[in-house]
Amino acid sequence: MEERVETVVIGGGAMGSATAWQMARRGRPVTVLERFTPGHLNGASHGASRNFNTAYAEPTYVAMLAEALSLWRELEAETQSTLLRQVGVVNHGANPSFDRVAAMLARVGLCAEFLAPEAAAERWPGIRFDGRVLFAPDAGRVNADAAVTALQTAAATAGADVRHSIRVQRLEVQGDDRVRVTHEAGTIIARRAVVTVGAWTSALLAGVIPMPRLTVTQEQPAHFALRDASPAAAAHAETEWPGFNHAPAWSDPRYGYWYSPVYGMYTPGQGIKAGWHGVGPGTDPDARSFQPEPVQLAALARYVREWLPGADPDTLEPVSCTYTTTADEDFVLDRVGPVIVGAGFSGHGFKFTPTVGRILADLTTGTAAAPPRFALNRAPNAAAGGWLSRR
Ligand SMILES: Cc1cc2nc3c(=O)[nH]c(=O)nc-3n(C[C@H](O)[C@H](O)[C@H](O)COP(=O)(O)OP(=O)(O)OC[C@H]3O[C@@H](n4cnc5c(N)ncnc54)[C@H](O)[C@@H]3O)c2cc1C
Repeated sequence: MEERVETVVIGGGAMGSATAWQMARRGRPVTVLERFTPGHLNGASHGASRNFNTAYAEPTYVAMLAEALSLWRELEAETQSTLLRQVGVVNHGANPSFDRVAAMLARVGLCAEFLAPEAAAERWPGIRFDGRVLFAPDAGRVNADAAVTALQTAAATAGADVRHSIRVQRLEVQGDDRVRVTHEAGTIIARRAVVTVGAWTSALLAGVIPMPRLTVTQEQPAHFALRDASPAAAAHAETEWPGFNHAPAWSDPRYGYWYSPVYGMYTPGQGIKAGWHGVGPGTDPDARSFQPEPVQLAALARYVREWLPGADPDTLEPVSCTYTTTADEDFVLDRVGPVIVGAGFSGHGFKFTPTVGRILADLTTGTAAAPPRFALNRAPNAAAGGWLSRR
């Protein structure tokens, strides 16, 4: 069966769902094709927690964060849901860009506060602090599962056609305003195709548009039980445990067992999530083990033992999830003819989701270009700075 639609969004994870929401609320017809069922665990957007960390030093990202903050609230209002809890995020360790971050946040009206490690430890006794602390009170935690559901619900309420369990097999560009999309149940002819398929991007777009190298890894953070297992402690953690980012001093042998900076937050009902960033084994998204690499996991437990006194290093539940990373860890948001691509979110995209949706919808409707930082054919960008301190 051949169908004709205005815009097809391929991939109903966070970014595809946000694009559909933005298109539908502008009254533009949009069809979403997602290969798995709602709430699936095969991609990058599942789970009940993501850091909404505002500690970026790069103006493009900081502007996107400020916009995302109001868009998350709009989505919550539209769907009567709670998605973003501003419990704050603490950044500490050997990160040279904290002053730049604080100055950048002030420019857009977001707060940043410096604390001495002792003062921070008094306020958050569950965390051991490593030098000066940059506290971002406007930051917090987003519920990823609830956010994807809310985006799809809001999109459908505004007229979007969201379909699950349909895998797209091929895209063919047949003209400036014509893309032939072949999927398991038939064919769609669309004027525009938005491709937001995460770890599957390189495979689906091979030979369609030139893409930079994307590295897909299987990441393995874990949830560690609160040391105090009482309901009162869990209730306290829900509102009082901040997100955290900890940067190592690589020249110091005490950090020798670290794989990367550490990030984490409290996940209601599951404990303290902690994880290495972007160092999981390379993987084929269709042939994943979903099993944690044991040496990395043991190192993570050691981290918890040394730096998170509020968490139990011996009671943990691993999480499996994919990163799709570009060489410079910046996103790809661009358009080539009738094909729009959103990819390479490099393990830090979720906080920006509604803004990414707005940018991809703008590209689709020709309303605006994407920030040059995210162009397909860019030379690798200089480091963005902020919590994204690279080795
Ligand atoms: C462990 C982990 C921790 C993270 N922590 C944070 C954090 O604290 N803060 C933060 O901001 N970000 C974080 N991120 C990053 C964030 O989660 C991702 O950037 C974001 O979820 C990417 O969304 P996506 O829509 O691009 O990908 P996905 O959610 O993977 O969506 C792609 C979708 O496309 C579908 N698809 C694929 N192929 C096809 C096809 N052929 N046909 C139809 N559908 C298809 C897939 O089923 C999938 O649903 C984290 C990521 C991971 C993995």
